[in-house]
Amino acid sequence: TDCTAILASWEAQRPDAIAIAFGGSTWTWAELAGRVRRNAAAQRAAGLIPGDRIAVLDLNHPSCLELTLACAQVGTANAVVNFRLAPPEIVYVINDARARILFVGPEFAGIVEKLREELPTVERVIRIGGADDEYEAWLAAHEPDADADAEAHRATPDDCFVQLYTSGTTGFPKGTMLTHRGMLAHARNSAIDMDLGPDARVQVAMPLFHVGGTSFALLGISVGARLVMMRLPDPAAALEMLEAERITHTFLVPALLAAMTKIPGAAERDYSALKALSYGASPMPLPVMRASLALFPGVMRQVYGMTEQSGAVSTLGPADHSDPAVAHRLVSAGTPVRGVEIKICDPGSGEPVPTGAPGEIWVRSEQVMGGYWGKPEATAAAITPDGWLRSGDGGHMDADGYIYVTDRIKDMIISGGENIYPAEIERVLAEHPSIDDVAVIGVSDEKWGEVPKAVVVAAPGTIVDTQQMLAWCRERLASFKCPKSFDVVTALPRNPTGKILKKDLRKPYWEGRERQVV
Ligand code: ATP
Repeated sequence: TDCTAILASWEAQRPDAIAIAFGGSTWTWAELAGRVRRNAAAQRAAGLIPGDRIAVLDLNHPSCLELTLACAQVGTANAVVNFRLAPPEIVYVINDARARILFVGPEFAGIVEKLREELPTVERVIRIGGADDEYEAWLAAHEPDADADAEAHRATPDDCFVQLYTSGTTGFPKGTMLTHRGMLAHARNSAIDMDLGPDARVQVAMPLFHVGGTSFALLGISVGARLVMMRLPDPAAALEMLEAERITHTFLVPALLAAMTKIPGAAERDYSALKALSYGASPMPLPVMRASLALFPGVMRQVYGMTEQSGAVSTLGPADHSDPAVAHRLVSAGTPVRGVEIKICDPGSGEPVPTGAPGEIWVRSEQVMGGYWGKPEATAAAITPDGWLRSGDGGHMDADGYIYVTDRIKDMIISGGENIYPAEIERVLAEHPSIDDVAVIGVSDEKWGEVPKAVVVAAPGTIVDTQQMLAWCRERLASFKCPKSFDVVTALPRNPTGKILKKDLRKPYWEGRERQVV
């Protein structure tokens, strides 16, 4: 029913089993539950009351999960800050959350000291780990007492206990309030899908500020599995861990998988324990898909998900990855996970479109967020009165109920009144042997309003010949979809979960001009 009850039940059922492994240390369920109780007592002693926010700015560390689980007991919420943000963005997020206590990892202590004046709501900074750790002493000083527990806040299913920020690829990051109801619905729905149980060993490779980190970790906790956490998503270390820790379940993003498949000796390792390798959060280029399928046959599972839905909403299972009869499904995000409804609507009228027609992906489920923190208008704009979340993603659904995610609607190109889907062009270019990475954006054009431009990264040792690229596109795409120009760059700007920052790529081509979006 709530995260506290779940933790208590695993503490009772398997106190000595390992709940979390991290950097050579382990925490049993009894230890984890005890530390979470102390943490909750320490939060109460600091005067935190239900509705208050704390914030964490650290690379992955089990303390972030302890804080989140303690928030679930106290009624507070943990705003997990994206550690890749620039200082002004860090300030924005911590102030947006109105965090009262800020927990910082050793790598960020210096930055926070410099920013201290700009964080008026922060009453106290507590250092986690490193030579001058304060967190352990903070826990040790607070014995949980039964009286306080008796009076303690009782979680209601709609309490928010963890606040994750959208990546901000389409605007300022918004604090997505994730609730017991939503997180546990996600855990229930996804655990069944992935055959995840107490014997599982779950690799937490993605950052905890993202659903791919925190929701995936809470999914493991909900079934009593062992979490094996990485401090940073390093490709070589992630591969090594899959083998050494006999990982059964993991969630990775395509950019990380791409790097993992290129590590020398990757194919020589033993991944036989692996039951499910979930990937998602950004489109999967076909060459990366093929390399991943060769390395991890039979376990690849795509998930399409979003912070606002506590994680996965649709999934393409292993069978659909290997059956040549349904090879077209490799570019699909699969079918809705149990408990989730998906429909495709006209983004303007909100009316469902016919099967196969393009539109906006709308999602309804119990997994939905409690809203955007402090932003009732944005919440009302995102969720319809009858509970449908407008994903902002363009896509379609085929007659078999498979969903195809094309692009963020804001990234779609409208050229002379025609809709062009950058993903379609990207897929064609990604197949070209001299291209390593590609993004297609709409750039301002006098005649057509906007036209597609391809920004490409050359494969090592090759030179991109734009005439040849254009010919490659012309053979495969309608002429209005073919890029009108090509930029060759050394790397594409990406956020930590591998999403290409198209807003940044577009910027120089729109100086002083307003871009029309659907
Ligand atoms: P912002 O709204 O600030 O840009 P964000 O939407 O990037 O943030 P997330 O919740 O991390 O924040 O990302 C969800 C989005 O990621 C989806 O709406 C979709 O665009 C993309 N996405 C997720 N899974 C997939 C997938 N399997 N294939 C393609 N795109 C995906």
